[in-house]
Amino acid sequence: MPIDVQALRAETPGVEHVRHLNNAGSALTTRRVLDAVTGHLAREAEIGGYEAQAEAAETLARFYDAAAALVGGAPAEIAFVENATRGWDMAFYAVDWKPGDRILTARSDYNSNMIAYRQVERRFGVEIVLIPNDDAGRIDVDALAAAVDGRTRLIALTDLPTNDGLINPAEAVGQVARDAGVPFLLDACQSVGQMPIDVGRIGCTMLSTTGRKYLRGPRGTGFLWVREDWIDRLEPPFLDTHAARWSRIDGFTIRDDAKRFENWEQHLAGKIGLTVALEHAADLGVDAIWARIRDLSGRLRAGLSALPDVTLHDTGVDKSGIVTFTKAGETAAETRARLAARRINCSVSFSQLTRTDLTDAGIAEMVRASVHAYNTEAEIDALLETVAEAP
Ligand SMILES: *Cc1c(COP(=O)(O)O)cnc(C)c1O
Repeated sequence: MPIDVQALRAETPGVEHVRHLNNAGSALTTRRVLDAVTGHLAREAEIGGYEAQAEAAETLARFYDAAAALVGGAPAEIAFVENATRGWDMAFYAVDWKPGDRILTARSDYNSNMIAYRQVERRFGVEIVLIPNDDAGRIDVDALAAAVDGRTRLIALTDLPTNDGLINPAEAVGQVARDAGVPFLLDACQSVGQMPIDVGRIGCTMLSTTGRKYLRGPRGTGFLWVREDWIDRLEPPFLDTHAARWSRIDGFTIRDDAKRFENWEQHLAGKIGLTVALEHAADLGVDAIWARIRDLSGRLRAGLSALPDVTLHDTGVDKSGIVTFTKAGETAAETRARLAARRINCSVSFSQLTRTDLTDAGIAEMVRASVHAYNTEAEIDALLETVAEAP
C-alpha cells in the first residue's frame, strides 16, 4: 500500500513547525514515539525506574522481535545499543586482531569506522586496504574480490554513505565475503528504515544501525545484529554483569546470545520509543517508505539540477534519499542558513565525516538535504525556490 502522507503527517507533530529535510541527521519522530518515551519517563518518576521497567516488560521484550523482523534476523541475534557507532564498535573490537591481519573496506566508509581501523592498525599492526571505487563511485566489487587473501580477517562496508546519495552494492560485497569465508560488517546506519534490508540476502555477518535517522526513533538508541554462528566467536571488548555471569569455577561465562554486546544499564524510555518506531515502520511497509523516498529525492535532484548555479555531488547509479549539493557564490553554511531562515532544515556535510571520499573529490563541505516518506512535494519545492534565490 502506498503511504498515506496526510495521515503520516497528522501524527508527526514537528511538521507544523519545520520543513524537515534533515532525516539523515535525525528525523522527526511520530506522536506515538514521543508518547511512548515521555510516558515511560513519567512512570519512572511516578513509581520508580525498576518498577516502571517491570511494568513495561512486555514492550521491552518486543524490541528484539521488531528489530529482528525489520532486518530479517532472529531476536537472539539483536543487541540494543546506545548508537550505531557503539554497536559497530562492539562487533569490530571483538575481533581478536593479530599483526598482519587485513581489513578490506571502501573509500566511502564512515569516518568513525576509519578511525577505528587506524587505531587497530597502530595498536596491532593490522593492514587497512581501501578498495578503489568503480566509475560511478561505488566500491569496485571485482577489485574487492581480487584483494581477498589468506590474511583478510574482515570486509567492512557502509552501504549508504552519510554524505552521498550513493548506494553501495552490499549484496555483491556479501557474495565476495561468503565465497571467501570472511566475516562482513555492514554499517547500515542510513539504510535501515529507508529501504528494505535483509541480512540473509545481503550476506553480512554483522550489521549496525541507529534509532534516530530513517527509523524515526529517539536519539541515543540503536541496535547491532550479529549472525547466530558468529556470536560466540566475538568476545565483546567490554563485559558487565548482563553480558556475562560471574562463576566461581571459570571466573566468568559470556552469554551466548547477542545481548553479550549490550550494557546492563539502558535508556529504557528510548528502547521503548525505538520499539514503537520499528513497529510503525513495519506497519507502513519499508517498501512503501522507500518508494516514496525515491519519488521525493528524484524530484529534489531534478529540481536542483535544473538550477544554473547548483552542483549536485551525489555519485552512484541508484540513489538514496540523501541529496548533496553546493551553490556557486555562497558557502554550504550560507545556503543552509538561508534555508533555516525559512524553517527548512538541512545540514552541512564536512569532509571530516567521510574524509577519504570527499578529500578525493576536493570538496570541503556541501549541503545535505535528506528526505523521508512524511515530507511533501511542497516542502521540496520550497527548498528549490529558496536555493534558487540570489544569496
Ligand atoms: C550517522 C552515521 C553513523 C553514526 O551513527 P551514530 O548513531 O551517531 O553512532 C555511522 N555510519 C553512518 C553511515 C552514518 O550515517
